[in-house]
Amino acid sequence: MMTYEELKYRQAWTLEQKIDHSVGVVSSFAAKTGGGIFSSFSGGKDSTVMVDIIRRFVDRTVPSVFCNTGNEYPEVVKFVRQTENVTVIRPEMHIRQIIEKYGFPLISKEQSQYIRQAKHTHSEKLRNIRLYGSINGIGKIAERWKFIIDAPFDVSEKCCDFLKKKPFEKFRRETGLFPIIGTMASESRLRFQKWLKHGCNSFETNMIASYPMSIWTESDVWAYIRKFNLPYSPIYDMGIKRTGCLFCGFGCHIKGDRRFYFLKENKPKIYEHFMRLENNGVSYREALLYCGIDFPDSNNQQLQIKF
Ligand code: SF4
Repeated sequence: MMTYEELKYRQAWTLEQKIDHSVGVVSSFAAKTGGGIFSSFSGGKDSTVMVDIIRRFVDRTVPSVFCNTGNEYPEVVKFVRQTENVTVIRPEMHIRQIIEKYGFPLISKEQSQYIRQAKHTHSEKLRNIRLYGSINGIGKIAERWKFIIDAPFDVSEKCCDFLKKKPFEKFRRETGLFPIIGTMASESRLRFQKWLKHGCNSFETNMIASYPMSIWTESDVWAYIRKFNLPYSPIYDMGIKRTGCLFCGFGCHIKGDRRFYFLKENKPKIYEHFMRLENNGVSYREALLYCGIDFPDSNNQQLQIKF
């Protein structure tokens, strides 16, 4: 088990120490898996750095795999195409089908899972945990989001399973290779908890993966890019801070989040396309409005009448 203090201590290391650490993590993972590894490449700056570390310091031939979810910034897809030795995989379900069937990814992965379960579970015990928390008071829907249980549409975390997890699992099964993933413990509570449990390499059954960037911070990533004059996706120079999925609603409620404003201004066709996706006859636009999210159409009077 790792500790919060250990993470803070390592996060304070110099860039060179962190590079050495990441090289050590990947090398040890490769040794334990018999060299059967691949880099999970999103085209974002973190995995761009991770791929460079692996190719520059560990093994030039480690393949990179990019999942084109159909939900990517065109600038990211173009950057991936320009990167050598990248295998592109695709999900079997289209985003439209996932939204229709399971609901919108809103608030956070954790909260949307809790809301989905509170709404659809047949277990009274689970429903009570989602509403009021476990004995330790954890696992419940935040008070401010409880009203979404009664929404005329579903929210769900399932989108990640279909757009990302399953395609990578399929690739893993077919090739026998194990993934190296460029996530950082500082990015979310879930990632921090995962790191506390497994450290930078996980060998738990069903979860064999390496996370060599776990102790890095965003400023380390930019420092590495500057140090090695590394090419990165031009989307960051357009004011975008995170390159994840274009239409994802995880975190869009956070004050100051401008993702939908950016989309409407810079990619109006894509914005319209996603805002029209529906679950249970309710559009994404209407769902955002229902949840009180600030986005370019939140003052649209016509939309407000519907609810
Ligand atoms: S990050 Fe959001 S939009 Fe992307 S796959 Fe996961 S839930 Fe879906």
